[in-house]
Amino acid sequence: MKAIILEQRGREGALYKECQTSDPAKGEALVRMEAVSLNRVDLYMRDNGAGITHTLPQIMGVDGIGRIEKINGSSSLDVGQRVIVYPYHYCGTCEHCLQGDQPLCLNAQILGEHCDGTFAQYITMPLQSLLPISEDCDAKKAACLGVAYLTAWRMVFTKAQASAGKTALIVGAGGGVACASVQLAKLAGCKVIATTTGPDKMEKTKNAGAGHVIDYAHEDVAKNVMQLTKGKGVDFAIDNVGETTWSSTIRAIKRGGKIVTCGATSGSNPSADLQRLFIRQLSIIGSTMGDLTEFARLINAFESGLLEPVIDSVYPLSESTKAFDRLEAPERFGKVVLTV
Ligand SMILES: [Zn+2]
Repeated sequence: MKAIILEQRGREGALYKECQTSDPAKGEALVRMEAVSLNRVDLYMRDNGAGITHTLPQIMGVDGIGRIEKINGSSSLDVGQRVIVYPYHYCGTCEHCLQGDQPLCLNAQILGEHCDGTFAQYITMPLQSLLPISEDCDAKKAACLGVAYLTAWRMVFTKAQASAGKTALIVGAGGGVACASVQLAKLAGCKVIATTTGPDKMEKTKNAGAGHVIDYAHEDVAKNVMQLTKGKGVDFAIDNVGETTWSSTIRAIKRGGKIVTCGATSGSNPSADLQRLFIRQLSIIGSTMGDLTEFARLINAFESGLLEPVIDSVYPLSESTKAFDRLEAPERFGKVVLTV
């Protein structure tokens, strides 16, 4: 089979090449992939990978959708069935798994980070990490759900407790998770304020569901949010940008409000502004991925037509280098997808 194999760090280190198809072990299935999507973590693995236990060469890719080719063991799934990949090998027996919180699993291995990933014609996966998905859905859109949309789902619904009438600030709306957060906060009934830059991305952010879009390169974000909320600030903010935006985000939150983060693209050590934090009784909440219950809810919302992932561009698996370049392009808006 063909796969994108990371042999060494850097842009030239990820190669489209022939490799062995593995047989599914007991409790696993062999899945023929249809479509996969790129995430920032793939870039991190390609160029750095520090702090994540793994060995090269390794097949890249965290999420995707495919069809079951072979099953080893008993399962409610069938050969030929279309499935979406839940990107964790989780143990099912640790204290967090027993509480249904698989992202906190003490023995978790994430695809494309700790072990071989999804950028391949075939993958083997534990049956417990495969969820059925409708035959009718667009594989390219479904391939975006497993990381960006699941991460956004947990942040917006579970951590920020978004509901009708609340006001949300989504920072840097061009990114995959942030764009998904705009859509999901809107779906929850929130008034959505988002930041991005340039007329094209501002227009696309509005189309994704933002009522107001602030151009962060030319406008004062906190001041604008205060004007838009009559001096109160937003109920919650989602900020995965980190150091460059944190101080304006923290000034845009209302008393008792929340900031949720799942990433730090621009750096992970912003000023904490502790005085503002305790006087205004703000909560800072970390989040990563989502559990199987959240994933099932997300898939249901997608299949019901409540949610349509925003795709920036689509490339064949063999052109992953172009796809990675596009992921890094400043004008990119939404998800970059590879068809297999
Ligand atoms: Zn576990």
